[in-house]
Amino acid sequence: MMLIPCPWCGPRNEIEFHYGGQADVHCPDDPQSVSDADWATFLFFRDNPKGVFTERWSHASGCRRWFTVRRDTRTNRVLPADSTNHARTVTT
Ligand SMILES: [Zn+2]
Repeated sequence: MMLIPCPWCGPRNEIEFHYGGQADVHCPDDPQSVSDADWATFLFFRDNPKGVFTERWSHASGCRRWFTVRRDTRTNRVLPADSTNHARTVTT
């Protein structure tokens, strides 16, 4: 079991969350101007480090908010995220 620290609800079991993938993936400012290869890289290619990785999670069974955590992919130990983007909320 992995405990994930929701910034609003506190640490909860991983089954309450949905994984959102790598954090801070920047969409091209003008998607029409990038090459097909660059667009494919944006859509499909993500880092896959052995170690600390910054990723997005949604507390789907709780407050339903998105937030960022850092997780060590070797141990699944969840570390505090940088304070600058820790609780960035997506309102959709
Ligand atoms: Zn929550």
